[in-house]
Formats: sequence, C-alpha cells, structure tokens
Amino acid sequence: MKKSIVYLVGAGPGDPGLITIKGLECIKKADVIVYDRLASPRLLTYARPEAELIYVGKSPDRHAMKQHEINQLLVEKAKEGKVVTRLKGGDPFVFGRGGEEAEVLVENGIHYEVVPGITSAVAVPAYAGVPVTHRDATSDFAVITGNEDPAKENSKIYWDKIATGIGTLVFLMGMSNLSKICEKLIQYGRSPSTPVALVRWGTRPEQQTLVGTLQDITEKAKEAEFKNPAVIIVGEVVKLREKLAWFENKKLFGKRVLVTRSREQASVLSQRIEELGGEAYEFPTIQIAEPDTYAPLDAAIDALSSYKWVVFTSVNGVKYFFNRLKKLGKDVRELHGTNICAIGPKTREALESYGLIVDYVPSEYRAEKIIAGLSGRLEPGDRVLLPRADIARKILPQALKEMGAVVDEITAYKTIMGAGDAQQVIEMLTRKELHVLTFTSSSTVRNFVQLLGAANLKELLKDVIVASIGPITSTTARELGIEVTVEAEEYTIDGLVDAVLKAVAERQG
Ligand code: SAH
Repeated sequence: MKKSIVYLVGAGPGDPGLITIKGLECIKKADVIVYDRLASPRLLTYARPEAELIYVGKSPDRHAMKQHEINQLLVEKAKEGKVVTRLKGGDPFVFGRGGEEAEVLVENGIHYEVVPGITSAVAVPAYAGVPVTHRDATSDFAVITGNEDPAKENSKIYWDKIATGIGTLVFLMGMSNLSKICEKLIQYGRSPSTPVALVRWGTRPEQQTLVGTLQDITEKAKEAEFKNPAVIIVGEVVKLREKLAWFENKKLFGKRVLVTRSREQASVLSQRIEELGGEAYEFPTIQIAEPDTYAPLDAAIDALSSYKWVVFTSVNGVKYFFNRLKKLGKDVRELHGTNICAIGPKTREALESYGLIVDYVPSEYRAEKIIAGLSGRLEPGDRVLLPRADIARKILPQALKEMGAVVDEITAYKTIMGAGDAQQVIEMLTRKELHVLTFTSSSTVRNFVQLLGAANLKELLKDVIVASIGPITSTTARELGIEVTVEAEEYTIDGLVDAVLKAVAERQG
C-alpha cells in the first residue's frame, strides 16, 4: 500500500508557470487535491484523471469551508491512506494558515511535508515592474498583514517602527483597510507623498495596477473600485515601475487562451502563447489512442518494400507507425528503398528524430499541395502507403488514386473524445475569463461543441475571439454555429498564433 502523506504545496501567485517542479510533482501524484481560490485552475489539469479535487475556497454560490473543517478534511483523507496535496496560493507559510494546518497534522500523527511556493508578496510586485529592493531605493522590505484592523488595541503590528524603519512595505489582504493603513503610516512619520502601488490579480491575465501616494491612493482606489485580491506596495521602489514594467506590455497580456488539441500536441501552442504573455488553458478535446486493430498496419509493414512512397500526415502517424515497427522487431532499415513524404515541418522533425531524411515536404501544408509536388515523382501503378488517423480526410488518397497510384490508407491510430473538465470551461466562459479559443482541426471544433453540450454556446462565445488554423476547420466551426473571428494565413501553429495576435490587436484598436 502507498504511504499516506499530506503535502502542503505553494501553488505560486497565479501564473501557473510559477509553481515549483516539486509542487507540480505533488499535483501529479495526488489521490486528493484540496485547493482554494488563489491557486490557478490550470494547475489542476495536471492531476491524475481519477484524483479527487476538493474546492475549499469562497465562491458565489457557496460559503468558504471553515479552517477547522479544512484541517479535519486533510486528516480524514490522510487516514484513508491517501496521498493528499493541499494546494495553497503563493507560499503556504506566508499568511496562508499553512502553519495551523501543519500543526493539526502533527497532532494527529500524520506524515507531512511542505513545498514552499513563490509568494505573491514578491512575485506580484515583480510582475508589475516593482523590485521589492533596489540599491538606490531601499535595502529592506517587510511583508505585513493588512487584515488586522489598525485601530485595534494591542496590535501585533509595530506601526511606529515599520512606518519609517523599513523601506518597502508590502501589505497582503489589505484592501478593506487601505485608508487606515495609509493614515497609520502617515501618523507615524512616513511622508504622505510616498509612492504606493496596488496590484490586483497579479501574474494573471486579469492583472491590474493602480499607482498613487499614501495621501491619494485611497481616493483613487475608490474611484476605480479596486478590490481584493491585491497587494499594497508602499515605498520609493514603486517609481521604478515606470521604467521596468514588462508583463503588462506583452502582446498577449490579459488574454487567457483555450488550447483544444490533444494533451500530447498542446505544449507547442501553449508555450508560444505564454512566451507572448498570455495564459494557455489546456482543454484537450481529443485523445489519441491505439487503433481497434493493428492487422492492416502490420500487413503494410510486412510489405514495406513494395511501396514507392510512405506519406506521413501527422506527428502522431509517425509515432504510432514507428512504435508498431519496433513492436514487430523491426526498425528504420525496413524503409531503405522507400521515399518518404512529410506533410509539414513538425512531421518532418518527427521523422528526422528517427534518423531519416525526408524526401519531400510540400511548401504549403495541405493535401492539395502534396499532390502537385508528387506529380513528377509518381508513376501510374506505384504503391503509396498512408499511415494515419481513422478520421483523416479523403481528399489526399483520392487525388493520389487519380494520379494512377495504388493507395493503401491504413489506420495507425485513432482519435477519441477528450476527457477534460467541460464544466470548468463553461464556468470560465460565463465569468468572461476565457478570451480566445483556438481550433487546430475540424475534430477539435466538433468535440469542443459536444463536450460542452451548452445550449447557450452562442451567448457564451459572444465576446470571445475564435481562431481557426485554416479554411476546413473554419467551415466546420461555422456549420456548428461558431463564428470564426480570425483564420490563419499559414496553416501551422505559428500561423495560428499570428492570427490570434492580429485579432487581439484589432480588438484593442
Ligand atoms: N500565501 C499567500 C498569501 C495568502 S493571503 C502568498 O504567499 O502569496 C491572501 C492575500 O495574498 C490576498 O488578499 C492578496 O493580498 C495576496 N495575493 C495572493 N495572490 C495574489 C495575486 N495574484 N495578486 C494580488 N494579490 C495576491
């Protein structure tokens, strides 16, 4: 039996990339994940499909679970023999009540470990272009709870000392006490003109920053209706933001982008989005699986030397073909007399990783182009093998046949419906937290619509940018009632990302 354990894990401030490697491992191996509102929902997509996910934060339709109930829950699940990952925003021991949870675990004799996280107290200022220390401004900073009413007698906060004794002050949970905090600092000698920045939902697409001084920030915050969760940064370092702001200047800043490809293929697109300052949310609408039977592929592999060309139309096709080749006790030497065609650069790269040189890659990544490119190199009667998906389009084999080739279309893998959390996607769309949808094939559109099963899909997508990888995908989307905002000019992932950038720039005017 696995040993039960509770991991108190810092999820970081919001940008899912800001979790530690160790924290991510704890998510991947957990039987139970207990999480609250400040942990990024994207992190939960790394959980095992059978993991139990328990939300204990506040939400509009539910009260937050009380702290002693959360403690009890952790104890209970651990006593059932489970591996429990308690995901907490930022660092678990910075105002997260992680210390209390740990105490209860110890008292109950439960094995536990702490995985520190990147605290919002440092990371949120950084994403707003504010270094908490700087040689020219200050050599120290303090992190202070803003939750304590400054009017309270017997305060644990030494206002008289921190007001002038420390350069940078970072208050967490302080928005409702903002005016009192500013008054207290001024009362104890901090200059009213000291710069202050408020940063809300820092490191996430929703990040908002408001800058003022101890004297005027309360008024400004009221006007802007600036609310929690936010950090309050007080000190000269705030001025550096004018020069150092970076995150808010990125091209996809403020955009959360849905990636609907299969889990195996999503990462390239997600990475590009995140390099541009957007947040990728992976919702695989497709899963790649083994074919129902390998008999046709096995027969084709047996007869490989009889083919003039093998045409690969996807990375998955390459992967499944070579996995099977190996299973049959064979390798690339079987292909020595055969020409190899790859439909695009990624497929070519996949083939090259097996040590093969690809004989032909069309200049444009469409079946129609392949045919034009092969026309001088195919004689009537030549045999062509197409190892591909069960649902691949018929246009390529048909056209090859018209050229006189003998075509064997073989199912090397099949695509099945993805198993992502559709409810989570619907909720994000309802709350307007998803800004762009990307579709990379007709089946991603079809499965997306089916998985969501939302009668009000049109309404949900009203303000959302829908980006399609090419005309065929766009047609499918329109047939299903989805309006396509922008279509890639080059039918590749880079082309799709360019299209997204174009649409975002147009909307921003
Ligand atoms: N353990 C957490 C803090 C928990 S207290 C950490 O180390 O970051 C909750 C407070 O943290 C919020 O009220 C807010 O002040 C701050 N906070 C957490 N995430 C934030 C974010 N993404 N943007 C702004 N403030 C954040």
